[in-house]
Amino acid sequence: MAVSTPRILDGRKLAATVLDECRAAADRLAQQGLVPGLAVVLVGDDPPSQVYVASKVRTCGELGFRSQKIVLPASTSQRELIGVVDRLNADPAVHGILVQSPLPVAIDAGEVVRAIDPRKDVDGFHPENVAKLALEDPSGFVPCTPAGCMRMIAAAGVVTAGAEVVVIGRSRIVGKPMALLLMARGVDATVTVAHSRSRDLAAVCRRADILIAATGRPGMVRADWVKPGAVAIDVGITRVADATKPSGYRLCGDVAYDEVAPLCSAITPVPGGVGPMTIAMLMANTLEAARRLSGKHP
Ligand code: NAD
Repeated sequence: MAVSTPRILDGRKLAATVLDECRAAADRLAQQGLVPGLAVVLVGDDPPSQVYVASKVRTCGELGFRSQKIVLPASTSQRELIGVVDRLNADPAVHGILVQSPLPVAIDAGEVVRAIDPRKDVDGFHPENVAKLALEDPSGFVPCTPAGCMRMIAAAGVVTAGAEVVVIGRSRIVGKPMALLLMARGVDATVTVAHSRSRDLAAVCRRADILIAATGRPGMVRADWVKPGAVAIDVGITRVADATKPSGYRLCGDVAYDEVAPLCSAITPVPGGVGPMTIAMLMANTLEAARRLSGKHP
């Protein structure tokens, strides 16, 4: 049953607004002699990671932030990587540190995250920041992708108080922090977190007023999983082989967009939805880290 034409939640447009705010704030900080600085560490040569890192570095340049890209071979040991993190922790020109995931299997990503100064953990993955999110303490950093989803939901005027929200995926990067943000005071959603062991996922999803898919399973959410009028937020980004594209692939979300969109009141596209918001929120976190570390509040 088609509802009407769904509202396409344009992540590129909203991200541009967030980035404009960041640029204006960075200009004010620059007048006080402070330039926000982000260090991005890439280990190995995972192609999507290379694209993400390049995009983060480019965006820093566009905002007048300083950026440092550190590329290490896949053979880098955990000790060497933590040595690099220690050096960045001590560098006063670096306000944000991001170690791009995935890391080679020989490296314990948790240990690396714990080595980052929580005040520079602009990804929001350090246990101190995870605890602050759970405790609703605003002095922490919120992971960028769920923060971007929240901003999209708010900008679209979607009512969350009392809404049934189903989050598919329970990762530390997306699903879990997403659920915490949605159940926080002031947001007040009724949150269900589904995952690969959930029974009758379709029935669980059909309850959702807001459905957030973060699994990395392209096209998994089908039309009969969606309640008419629901809002669909598609976090998934998967490269699917496509010989018609010059790159040889296209990006696919977790939602079977063509059949689901007509049912929704609003939906995020892939690409051009949550993805651009993630980078925008990373820049906002880096700016905030620079402010906090310097004590400057423009
Ligand atoms: P992950 O692999 O760490 O977690 C995936 C989650 O999905 C798990 O909790 C798993 O239980 C669940 N899942 C997997 N298959 C399932 C199934 N068949 N049914 C129900 N649940 C299932 O992945 P992640 O890091 O959370 O990322 C998820 C997706 O989001 C990926 O496509 C990733 O590329 C994308 N992502 C996008 C952005 C962005 O900026 N838009 C940022 C981060 C991740």
